[in-house]
Amino acid sequence: MVAAVNCVSPHLLSARDDAEEIAWFAVTVDSARVIEHSCSFCPGPGYELCVLGARWFIRRTSRKGTHETMRWRERTTRRLWAELFAGVAR
Ligand SMILES: [Zn+2]
Repeated sequence: MVAAVNCVSPHLLSARDDAEEIAWFAVTVDSARVIEHSCSFCPGPGYELCVLGARWFIRRTSRKGTHETMRWRERTTRRLWAELFAGVAR
């Protein structure tokens, strides 16, 4: 385990019992630009806020592999990104 001093990126709060379930799909393209990402030092799934052209989505990498959400506009995707970190979506 890496020292906590390396934790400079945000961490997700634990998902609430009534958290909205995000639909995760297999990765279709690899070349998206990463805008923000969750802490990559701590164990557990890593999340990336990605953009490809004008289409935004979230990518999740865990021991089960890499998956991503549908594509939306920036505002919609940033709202879901915030909900993910707040534990009201998972
Ligand atoms: Zn961390």
